[in-house]
Amino acid sequence: MYPTSYCCCRTPSAAHNVNIKPHHFVDILAALGGGRSRYEPHPYGHALHTVAHRILADREVCLRIELGADDICAPCRHNVGGTCDDVIDTSFRPEAPASKNTWNLRLDRRWCEALGLKQGDELTAGQLCGLIAGRIDRVPGIYRELPPDRTLLKQRQIEEGARLFPADRTASK
Ligand code: SF4
Repeated sequence: MYPTSYCCCRTPSAAHNVNIKPHHFVDILAALGGGRSRYEPHPYGHALHTVAHRILADREVCLRIELGADDICAPCRHNVGGTCDDVIDTSFRPEAPASKNTWNLRLDRRWCEALGLKQGDELTAGQLCGLIAGRIDRVPGIYRELPPDRTLLKQRQIEEGARLFPADRTASK
């Protein structure tokens, strides 16, 4: 279990925290590892561009683990009362549920189990990055509905993103 006493978030005020789904943070790391560090506003209206820029600018930013709608989802047109009404492309992952809300929750629960985290835990972006880097071997299992080549690419990109971010390695010990 993640030692909450380890949290060294320097901004205890909730107003300064970023509520984030674990897999959203992982996606930002994977994108960084794939060469993407700049974001534009998305037609969905979500806040990935602002949240990603904030995280990438400061590894000390305090994150709060959120399994429901997070700060990225907050302004999204698919966020209907805290539930995502979007669907995912299941053509290449037929074992995955079509509901993006169900799929996201599945991934986030797996990430939480792998990292020893739970809803409401707080840690810095660098600490979360360090935890993920220390559990990189869990990626194939977490994304087991994806084809192996996609999972391998994701694993490599997350690893590279953690190297570039960089991770706080003490968090994985
Ligand atoms: S998970 Fe759903 S509500 Fe959240 S940003 Fe993505 S599409 Fe929007």
